[in-house]
Amino acid sequence: MKAWEANIRRVVPYVPGDQPKGERLIKLNTNENPYPPAPGVRRVLQEMDYDRLRKYPDPAALVLTDCLADYYGVGRDQVFVGVGSDDVLAMAFLTFFNSDKPVLFPDVSYSFYKVWADLFDIPYETLALDENFCIRPQDYLKENGGVIFPNPNAPTGLLLSLGQVEEILRYNSDVIVIVDEAYIDFGGISALSLLEQYENLLVVQTFSKARSLAGLRIGFGIGSPTLIQALNDVKYSYNSYTMNMPSLVLGVEAVRDEEYFQNTLKKIIATREKAKVRLRKLGFSYPDSMSNFIFAAHRQVPAKELFEALRKRQIYVRYFDQPRLDNYLRISIGTEEEMEELFAFLEEYLDRWKA
Ligand code: PMP
Repeated sequence: MKAWEANIRRVVPYVPGDQPKGERLIKLNTNENPYPPAPGVRRVLQEMDYDRLRKYPDPAALVLTDCLADYYGVGRDQVFVGVGSDDVLAMAFLTFFNSDKPVLFPDVSYSFYKVWADLFDIPYETLALDENFCIRPQDYLKENGGVIFPNPNAPTGLLLSLGQVEEILRYNSDVIVIVDEAYIDFGGISALSLLEQYENLLVVQTFSKARSLAGLRIGFGIGSPTLIQALNDVKYSYNSYTMNMPSLVLGVEAVRDEEYFQNTLKKIIATREKAKVRLRKLGFSYPDSMSNFIFAAHRQVPAKELFEALRKRQIYVRYFDQPRLDNYLRISIGTEEEMEELFAFLEEYLDRWKA
């Protein structure tokens, strides 16, 4: 090893899902929205004045924070935006988790939490889900340096009720509690209504899933002005221009079209519920997902075998080669047609397997 190599910081990175290329493939592996963004996004993109790219974007991202403040009925000083919710969450770890006590999060959860904790040298403790993959709110009643969990959880899709989220908040008034609501629009009730009572709550959401804009990278956090001010101070100490101009204006367009948003959600939820019935008929079991994916295990066929067979057919789902998860496939909800192809393949494959 060269002497200078001793100065390199070594980290174990988060591994994002594959982004395979090809025309005919069916991509159900990274929980993207199968439907295009709102039509207004296309219009504004086509009309965009490219000369504006000469200039730096607004560092405060006000068009977008104001639009979100209006939409969610909070003050403009309560909204923070970032480059996907990953950016908002990373910044929140850096800003809010500065205790010697461990930050708490579920053991089966968004795997990025561990990576940020390691990157920023934050002590943490993971708390086991119960035998049905549920978060147990009472486990979070212990000394800690902060709490974070996704709701619905990933990759299980299971939702905590607002009452359960509040239970965790009630226990934890001395630390900052982050609720990662990446998938909340697919059937959950947001913790935003608890913001008035809990100044230590940060709710984080994204445009990547329900708003079909994973490619633009927009996420946001909503919390008390004290939390948002602290996040902004850290952001301005790091990179003032996190949000590029196209993301700002196109993000606003996506929020404007409420009817399109609701219709898209309705379609995905209906497809998800139909998929649950078909999966069960085929011999799969799964936690009852309230997100845009289903985490399913077959009673006979190992998940890894199914994953590989599907991939050969250009149908991509997510497989986690980890204890407790390694017999499950995480299947994102696609269009009706995509799900039809998935099920046609599974039916045929499982029939052959039985024979
Ligand atoms: N939180 C959870 C629970 C997620 O699954 C994801 C998606 N990988 C994110 C946050 C981050 O999404 P994005 O950065 O696209 O907003």
